[in-house]
Amino acid sequence: LLTLDLLADWLRRYAAIVDEHKTYLTELDSAIGDADHGANMARGTAAVLTHVDDATTIDALLKKAGMTLVSTVGGTSGPLYGTLLMKMGMATGSVVELSAEDFGKALRAGLEGLVARGKTELGDKTMVDALAPALDAYDAALADGSDLHDAVAAAAQAAAAGRDATTPMVAKKGRASYLGERSAGHQDPGATSSTYLFDALADVIG
Ligand code: ADP
Ligand code: MG
Ligand code: MG
Repeated sequence: LLTLDLLADWLRRYAAIVDEHKTYLTELDSAIGDADHGANMARGTAAVLTHVDDATTIDALLKKAGMTLVSTVGGTSGPLYGTLLMKMGMATGSVVELSAEDFGKALRAGLEGLVARGKTELGDKTMVDALAPALDAYDAALADGSDLHDAVAAAAQAAAAGRDATTPMVAKKGRASYLGERSAGHQDPGATSSTYLFDALADVIG
C-alpha cells in the first residue's frame, strides 16, 4: 500500500534528488535549451517541501504539490509537472492510502493530462519519453503478479532506458525543437528529471 506518509516522503526524496542534480540538469538544458532546468526544478520542488506536512489526504497532497510547481517552476516544465501531479490528485479521491493498482491509475491520469497539455507524443524528446515507458512497465509488472517494490523497480529501469533513448532523438517540442537536427546527440533534461520521480519512489519504498 502507498500511504499518505509514503507519498509525502516520495515528494521530499524527489526534491532532494533534484537538488543534488540541479547543476547536471542545467548543463543538459544548456546544450539544447536555455540552461535553467535545474534551477527551475530545484526552486519548484523546494517550494513543494514547505506544504508537504500540511496535507491530511493523498489528493490534497498531490493537488497542492502540483499547484505549487505550476506557480513556482517558471519554465515550460512547471505547468507540465504540475498537471501530472494535479491530475494524479484528482484521480485518487480523499484517501490516506492507495493500492499499487490505484496508484498506477493515478499516474496514468496524470500522464494523460500532461500529454494533453503539452500536445506531446512519444518520440518528441520530452519528459513523456521517460514517463510513458515507466508507467507501461509498472502496469505490466503488476499484471504479471509483481509486488509494489518490483513494479517500481521495473518502472525506474524503464524510465532510465526511455531517458537514454532521448539522446539520438530530434526534438519536436519545447525550446530544443528550435535547434532542429542539432538537438540530436543530447539527452533531454525533462526526461532526466522525470526519471528521478521513479528513483525517488524506489528509494522510499526501500
Ligand atoms: P523551458 O524550456 O521553458 O526553459 P525547462 O528548461 O524547465 O523549461 O524544461 C524543459 C523540458 O521541458 C524539456 O527538456 C522537455 O522534457 C520538457 N518539455 C518541453 N516542452 C514540452 C512539451 N510540449 N511536452 C512535454 N514536455 C515538454
Ligand atoms: Mg530551460
Ligand atoms: Mg526557461
